[in-house]
Amino acid sequence: MTPLERALRERIAAEGPITVESFMEACNEYYYATRDPFGTAGDFTTAPEISQMFGELVGACLADAWTRAGRPAEAVYAELGPGRGTLALDALRVLRSAGFSGECHFVETSPVLREMQRDAVPDAHWHELIEELPNAPSLLVANEFLDALPIRQIVNGTERRITALGGGLAFDRDGETIELSPAREAAVGAVAEHLVKNGGVALFIDYGHDRSGKGDTLQAVRRHGFAAVLADPGEQDLTSHVDFVAVVQIASNSGAGVTSVVGQGEWLDRLGLEARANSLARSNPSRSDDIRAAAERLTGADQMGQLFKVVAIHSPQWPAPAGFE
Ligand code: SAH
Repeated sequence: MTPLERALRERIAAEGPITVESFMEACNEYYYATRDPFGTAGDFTTAPEISQMFGELVGACLADAWTRAGRPAEAVYAELGPGRGTLALDALRVLRSAGFSGECHFVETSPVLREMQRDAVPDAHWHELIEELPNAPSLLVANEFLDALPIRQIVNGTERRITALGGGLAFDRDGETIELSPAREAAVGAVAEHLVKNGGVALFIDYGHDRSGKGDTLQAVRRHGFAAVLADPGEQDLTSHVDFVAVVQIASNSGAGVTSVVGQGEWLDRLGLEARANSLARSNPSRSDDIRAAAERLTGADQMGQLFKVVAIHSPQWPAPAGFE
């Protein structure tokens, strides 16, 4: 039994069955606080860990929006859940070469990942909450951040909970499921309000759907494969599909501008992934096959290209970032 499972069983014994939301929150907090989950030796690989091209194109997109906004000197780069800091490193390299000299701000709760982020970007500033970001125009990115925030599941009109059963844990009900995520809505709302107040743009990149739908999408990933959601609490990554319709709704309710929701593949292609891959392959001929494979993995319709979606939010005074139409 994992240490977290023991704690959850004690909690269930004391309080009764816990909601899916409390379970997911407790599991992911423990999971991210205790390890580096990324890469071949870990549990899963994210887009910035596949290739530097991903972060570079994010940086190019932000640099373009910042330039069209008149290059405000007080603008900062901000990232939610920066993982190993790889995306920030690659994006900031491009932003710096475009003349951006603003600070770097990270919203990260995991002490282990904060240390890795410090190795990548030593002069960054760290925060626990989005609300703590400085009041400055922001070039903000969140890649695979929303999917890790907890969801509620409503089964046939009733909150789904988790109980202790035999030596393990079990759901209290199954059936037609609707998923809601107050935590995601709060995060998107906080970003949109921050942009409306201070100016700037935000890119949300995640796997999910651009049509709200019914269904249980909660999943566990461990060692690059799917695992049972209730097995080994705190030892595997729990995520669910992000409802991009809700993201768009929350952002526009806050008075921010919102782009259309596009596939990651389409977006990266429009930002010039092929040209970047060609130029990288020319300067690293021995790595050219790897570079092509990485480009395909990021954009292929049967890989990350369609399942992963991108949407941008911008303050009314800032232009919509490129790549969405
Ligand atoms: N963006 C990175 C990492 C994605 S994994 C990448 O693409 O590689 C999710 C990240 O969000 C981790 O850094 C995790 O520690 C962080 N995280 C999860 N829940 C969080 C929360 N509530 N507040 C801040 N960071 C959180």
